[in-house]
Amino acid sequence: MTDVKHWIDGRETASTGSTQPILDPSTNEEIATLHLGDASTVDQAVQVARTAQREWAQVSLSKRTQIMYRMRQLLIEATGEIAEVISREHGKTVADAKGEIARGQETLEFATSITQDLKGGFSENVSTGVDGYTFRQPLGVVAGITPFNFPAMVPFWMHPIAIATGNAFILKPSERDPSASNIVARLYQEAGLPDGVFQVVHGGKDTVDALCTHEDIAAVSFVGSTPIAQHVHATASAAGKRVQALGGANNHAVVMPDANVEFAASQVASGAFGSAGERCMAVPVAVTVGDIHEQFLEAIAAEAEKLTVGPGSDPATDMPPVITKDARERVIRMADEAEQAGGRLVVDGRGLVVDGYENGNFVGPTVVTDLPADHPTYTEEVFGPLLVVMHVNNFDEAVELVNSSRFGNGTAIFTGSGHYARRYQEEIEVGMVGINVPIPTPVGYYSFGGWKDSLFGEHHAHGPEGLEFYTKQKAVTSRWPHQEEHLEASMSFPTH
Ligand code: NAD
Repeated sequence: MTDVKHWIDGRETASTGSTQPILDPSTNEEIATLHLGDASTVDQAVQVARTAQREWAQVSLSKRTQIMYRMRQLLIEATGEIAEVISREHGKTVADAKGEIARGQETLEFATSITQDLKGGFSENVSTGVDGYTFRQPLGVVAGITPFNFPAMVPFWMHPIAIATGNAFILKPSERDPSASNIVARLYQEAGLPDGVFQVVHGGKDTVDALCTHEDIAAVSFVGSTPIAQHVHATASAAGKRVQALGGANNHAVVMPDANVEFAASQVASGAFGSAGERCMAVPVAVTVGDIHEQFLEAIAAEAEKLTVGPGSDPATDMPPVITKDARERVIRMADEAEQAGGRLVVDGRGLVVDGYENGNFVGPTVVTDLPADHPTYTEEVFGPLLVVMHVNNFDEAVELVNSSRFGNGTAIFTGSGHYARRYQEEIEVGMVGINVPIPTPVGYYSFGGWKDSLFGEHHAHGPEGLEFYTKQKAVTSRWPHQEEHLEASMSFPTH
């Protein structure tokens, strides 16, 4: 059993306040104790960050880049250690945890090219003898608040770019699986990052609200569920901060009649049941178009039956438990309600018990069809291994159905037709689109973000939009007249 403390000013720092247990989702046994912060912990971290940031912003771009390169190497070497910790606290398989760390590494690699990306513009002689130029400066102290489902990758969407651009970053990870963030803090220190530039404050609502309202925090990045994203966006915006708040999702995969149905079913199964459906780019809804509905159901049932459900620590596991007892009960309740409304359970994972892990949060892959389009099991985010298969008659009806969702994070189309693929990418009101790709998560040098209730704020995460989010532009107009040159000032508005 370990104590997971805050990481402030380069060392582990205990809370004076309360603690809460961290549970193993496979057994619900307590595996560690988390120290919870409050407004005073946040203030302590912010005061340290303010001092550290002033010096950090003066460190040359090449020195910052060298630290990022060293961090990349240390992250690669520590991948096994971090993946084990994530698997233990989150429950996902070690292989899946390694995958998210590799995706986090991509955004770190983007930050190693900051010398290129921070180049400004310069125009000579915007007026005779006058030059104009722009450059971007850091915001100061910025904060990131992250969800449980990607305890490494999602924070990596934020801190490498925030730090490389000269900010100090305070991370508030999920209280369900916080330990990976402390390892990352230790690695930054080993990489040579000055203490106070990257800090971790643990906690729940009190800590989040303190970050959203602290007067010395300039910007807040949030990733999590839609209601909390709205709360963070409203609270931090009202406190005058720049905010990007990424929310929940209900991603649809459309399967056209000309698709390879077996291929589409295997891809949808990986999107629906990988990591027990607890991915913001999971595929909890498939939409069959035309006369392939029953064929698709048979194929998806066959895929679901192949899966081994078990603890993330077992290399034979395909699908791990969900995060909490509440999350498990929610999945089962939503399947029950679907059945009561006349839905057909093509695959029913509600009664699944894993031998030796009877108290774990396991629920088997579940597939429901024949649901009305206004049923909450279809319209709401389940965030578990429950796939709803809807059916429509043609492409236009599929587009209409997907566009009627209040979420707009990701979507996919499976088709053999370039014509329909192109129409889909144009007509669909969703931020990230996959064509024969089930989880279209953009690579680290593009930006990640949804539309509608999946994102509040103007900037997507990481890549070029992340760089814009963590910096502000300055435009300079300069003239260096010769000492003996006497320029007349004019009372009229200057023209060129
Ligand atoms: P969550 O909203 O419960 O928690 C996210 C963060 O907010 C955590 O750090 C948590 O401590 C904090 N928080 C929780 N309740 C709060 C409250 N009342 N006031 C202030 N802060 C609070 O989300 P989660 O359950 O950790 O993660 C799953 C959700 O995140 C899903 O909805 C999923 O779709 C979403 N998600 C979205 C993306 C995306 O890119 N859009 C990525 C990953 C996860």
